[in-house]
Amino acid sequence: MFENLSDRLGGVFDRLTKQGALSEDDVTAAMREVRVALLEADVSLPVAREFVKKVTQKATGAAVTKSITPGQQVVKIVHDELIKVLQGEGEPDVLRIDNPPAPILMVGLQGSGKTTTTAKLAKRLKDREKKRVLMASLDTNRPAAMEQLAILGQQVGVDTLPIVKGETAVQIAKRAKQQATLGGYDVYMLDTAGRLHIDEVLMDEVQAVRDVANPRETLLVVDGLTGQDAVNVATEFDGKVGISGVVLTRMDGDGRGGAALSMRAVTGKPIRFVGLGEKMDAIETFDAQRIAGRILGMGDIVALVEKAQEVLEVEQAERMMKRFQKGLFNMNDLKNQLEQMQKMGGMQSIMGMMPGMNKMAKQAKAAGLDDKAIGHQVALINSMTKKERANPDLLQASRKKRIAAGAGLDVAELNRLLKMQKQMADTMKKLGKMGKGAMLKQAMR
Ligand code: GDP
Repeated sequence: MFENLSDRLGGVFDRLTKQGALSEDDVTAAMREVRVALLEADVSLPVAREFVKKVTQKATGAAVTKSITPGQQVVKIVHDELIKVLQGEGEPDVLRIDNPPAPILMVGLQGSGKTTTTAKLAKRLKDREKKRVLMASLDTNRPAAMEQLAILGQQVGVDTLPIVKGETAVQIAKRAKQQATLGGYDVYMLDTAGRLHIDEVLMDEVQAVRDVANPRETLLVVDGLTGQDAVNVATEFDGKVGISGVVLTRMDGDGRGGAALSMRAVTGKPIRFVGLGEKMDAIETFDAQRIAGRILGMGDIVALVEKAQEVLEVEQAERMMKRFQKGLFNMNDLKNQLEQMQKMGGMQSIMGMMPGMNKMAKQAKAAGLDDKAIGHQVALINSMTKKERANPDLLQASRKKRIAAGAGLDVAELNRLLKMQKQMADTMKKLGKMGKGAMLKQAMR
């Protein structure tokens, strides 16, 4: 399903790649196609819509560096946004298994790969974290499923709770807890029964088990190939049982991440692991970067743009450093700095890393210099002629009036800007005389 998305996006970007400049219409047209492609790949409508909105905002008017095409720039923006959607905010990527024995509840539909995943995770905990793990199957309806877990346990060298016929799921859960405590296990994993579809009986049972076990982690296992269905299943389970994370299986198949994209956005639950095959070590922690790469399938372009941006930033910084060392700081320099601040979205920009800039950033913050104020200042500088920018001393009353009017602002605001530039230039001159060492020292403050 994502093969298709990647192909379609490829076409869209190809067309952009061949154009010289990126206009708003180009972006809008491209994004319309991106949206359709996402929907066809079974990404939910609100997620696709939100995604396209964000990318459009970022792509329109984005600075395009010389060595890359606008199309390539858009690829990078789409890529970064994909990562953001997939990643969520600072989730824990390790399982919470302190306070032994820590219960982990495994839930999901039948055939999702729940039992396989239980054994895979148990093996991982044993091999990588040297944990003693006990697994128990709670699938009282399917003796074969219980057998399956026992066999997998033997395969990976993890103990399973002996099977006792006639017990209910809750009874097995209690026995697992007891055995885990007495046996000195670090973790016990409860592989709950799955059904083909979500039904009341199943949910009641899982809830009852949850109440007995009080799990530290409740992991939902879903088939990554089922796209939107996987997201619906996750929403259901989270509503009824409460889940702490998702494991997407069959990510080795043709599905290229469609479910992953909606999963995080719709459920708000982190994807913790992905299953990548039938073998017992075919599981990995979820890596948003890698999945975004698979969805887009354009790693080369992304790498190219990253490189170009790096080079450009270094070049710019070096050029400015040289000017500052000579004690030069005109309106162009100030504009550059202000735009950096806008781009970085705040005062913690690279300004803080430049000589004298740290101080200025602090002053600016204290003076309540917000995004709006920065916008005004940039508008004022834009309203100046080339000559005026290079030499602000030219600005007398009539010129000031013209500039302020051009930006639709007061002369008072322009005066504040001039004062700021003067202070900066003075600082630069002083620092320039003191030499490079003093500049670095200042930068460290
Ligand atoms: P359960 O009914 O949810 O417990 O599902 P099983 O664990 O029995 O898995 C069903 C089938 O899916 C088995 O044949 C597994 O080997 C297979 N399977 C599980 N996870 C993956 C995966 O990540 N990739 C692939 N290709 N197959 C998987």
